[in-house]
Amino acid sequence: MRKNPEDLVRHIVSVRKGDQVRVMTGRDKGKVGRVLSVDPYKRTVTVEHASMIKRHTRPNPSKNIKGGIVEREGAIAISNVLLVCPGCNKHTRVAHATLPDGTKVRTCRRCGATLEK
Ligand SMILES: [Zn+2]
Repeated sequence: MRKNPEDLVRHIVSVRKGDQVRVMTGRDKGKVGRVLSVDPYKRTVTVEHASMIKRHTRPNPSKNIKGGIVEREGAIAISNVLLVCPGCNKHTRVAHATLPDGTKVRTCRRCGATLEK
């Protein structure tokens, strides 16, 4: 399959694995869940229990994979999710700040709390 040239660019994304996000649009609008994976090339994320898709898998005994229909999380465009701030518990856009010691952190645009653990 020919590679899409757009997929070769690693975009800067403000969402990281393990973040709590809220799905803002689409079938699972309003759902809040943990980010399971981030694809900075496609600008997509998978969110726990959101955008579930059914995959029809073929059994592969050598890899111990059972066949059948498996439900798993599908990709959601990052532009369709927003981070949930642990400080004010609301979905927010992300601001970036530099601490006095020079480390960069993501902060909440609503309350200014840092989003790093
Ligand atoms: Zn906040």
